[in-house]
Amino acid sequence: MSAFDYDLFVIGGGSGGVRAARVAAGETGAKVALAEEDRYGGTCVIRGCVPKKLMVFASGYSDMAADAVSYGWDMQAGDFDWQAFHGKLVTELDRLEGVYRKLLAGSGVETFDARAKVVDAHTVELSDGTRKTAKHILLAMGGRPTTPDIPGAEHAITSNEIFHLPELPKSILIVGGGYIACEFAGVMNGLGVKTTQFYRGAQILRGFDDEARGLVSDEMIQRGVDLHLGTNVLEMEKRDEGIWVKATNGSEHVFDQVMFATGRVPNTDNMGLEEVGVKLGRKGEVLVDAYSQTDVPSIYAIGDATDRVNLTPVAIREGMAFVETVFKGNPTKVDHDLIPSAIFTQPEMGTVGLSEEDAAAQEPIEVYATSFKPMQQSFAGRADRVLMKLIVSKETRKVLGCHIVAPGAGEMIQLAGIAVKMGATKEDFDRTVAVHPTMSEELVTMRNPTRSA
Ligand code: NDP
Repeated sequence: MSAFDYDLFVIGGGSGGVRAARVAAGETGAKVALAEEDRYGGTCVIRGCVPKKLMVFASGYSDMAADAVSYGWDMQAGDFDWQAFHGKLVTELDRLEGVYRKLLAGSGVETFDARAKVVDAHTVELSDGTRKTAKHILLAMGGRPTTPDIPGAEHAITSNEIFHLPELPKSILIVGGGYIACEFAGVMNGLGVKTTQFYRGAQILRGFDDEARGLVSDEMIQRGVDLHLGTNVLEMEKRDEGIWVKATNGSEHVFDQVMFATGRVPNTDNMGLEEVGVKLGRKGEVLVDAYSQTDVPSIYAIGDATDRVNLTPVAIREGMAFVETVFKGNPTKVDHDLIPSAIFTQPEMGTVGLSEEDAAAQEPIEVYATSFKPMQQSFAGRADRVLMKLIVSKETRKVLGCHIVAPGAGEMIQLAGIAVKMGATKEDFDRTVAVHPTMSEELVTMRNPTRSA
């Protein structure tokens, strides 16, 4: 008999926590409990990736009727019915939460619909005051949106609320230039909302390949997003006509809604962590080693709570590696190198590896890039452009980075990511026969470098 109530107590029922709990219980027979204060599924399923992608799909239909007419169909676009979509969205999220609960129950994980905090190295306290002990504690509380400290900021929403607005606003201001801001600018614009975006820097999507983010920005503007670079919100007020906003350039505007997409912070407040010796970083992130272990040997942390690479598949891998290390006796580090990802802007951006700028700072490179009008949109009379780009090491010939801006880039980069992760060279790409006619065939047909650096 163990001296503890459980072998593992997981705090947080998001992608990472649920995966770790059910694999530990289901595959190793460990006695596992999990506490979740909100809905099972966490940010990704309930207020992130999943509902976002459904909204991206919904917003994509606005162009389709016009395109179909260009292709000879006799049809007319109708209006978007937010209530009809939202009803279905709620049903789908309920279904998914049910799936997560069932997965946990089916693996024998005991769940508590409660907030939990850490009391000592082996004890957690639930919000009803009960205490549970465990040999290991896994912190998987995720993160939450953060908003700037400016007058009137309380009138704005964040990505938590955007999925459940009572009605679609006529106009919206989206503040920020990261993943969430750019994705929702495209979504809202596509749904027919007059969309303005303020970004404080010189170009959106800081940190990504300059040419790729430049094209995403051009395409967003071309589709109707009123993008203001070098602009931020100074103050806001709720007025009869809507939310009044004063910008840093002195201009004044009124919007139906304002959404801050100004970053996320780890959910580590009031968790009792520092009191028991778990170290936190500057953003409040749990500091862990390569095995996700904190400074307290019995306490581990994964996912956005650790602010390493804040993506669902990464949290899941960190959870799996934790189970391998702690419950299967096979110490496993998570490989955070060459993680492909996609930004679901319109068009999408898929990326793996180094940007041209980062690669050039590291070693001599060749850049292979082509930007063109894709056949499907071009035939429909659209001016849309796409980009296919490879960054190649002059010395090793390895493809150091691949950047795609195109409809479906998320799907394409998953596959290109395998080759790049395997260490494919430019010549390996060239040896691969093109799939014709596709957009991505350009990745294997670019013969001459566009430039060297
Ligand atoms: P990001 O960190 O990507 O972007 C935050 C943005 O807000 C930046 O443009 C930043 O500007 C700006 N900002 C920060 N503070 C302020 C401020 N005080 N005033 C004005 N602007 C400000 O965060 P997101 O919230 O967009 O996304 C969080 C994370 O979630 C991402 O990094 C990603 O890991 C994950 N995610 C992934 C998705 C995907 O895979 N498709 C989708 C959505 C989220 P600056 O650049 O100047 O710092």
